[in-house]
Amino acid sequence: MKLKSLSPMVPRVSTAVVTVPPKQADSFYGSAEWQALRIACLKRDRFVCQIAMPGCTHKATIADHIVSRRNGGADTLANLRAVCRQCDNRVKEDHLGQRRGKATR
Ligand SMILES: [Zn+2]
Repeated sequence: MKLKSLSPMVPRVSTAVVTVPPKQADSFYGSAEWQALRIACLKRDRFVCQIAMPGCTHKATIADHIVSRRNGGADTLANLRAVCRQCDNRVKEDHLGQRRGKATR
């Protein structure tokens, strides 16, 4: 009796290397205008995290757009709030541009 080889049950997958383009930083965040706005925001809020999620006692070091630039938010003090890194990470936008956490101001 002649043996017959069976085809593999697992489909072949591409082994091509996928290259992800590097994340493009918005050049505005490197500008002197942004640096001045950022410092003014942090000073106005006295480096106190304005999200203040339960348990947050961290120093605010980030000036966060309340309405994101992507959604047309202005680069003005009225649209900025000081937040700590931990809270900022919790409320960042998802891949659809929606905030994951609630803003308090
Ligand atoms: Zn915080």
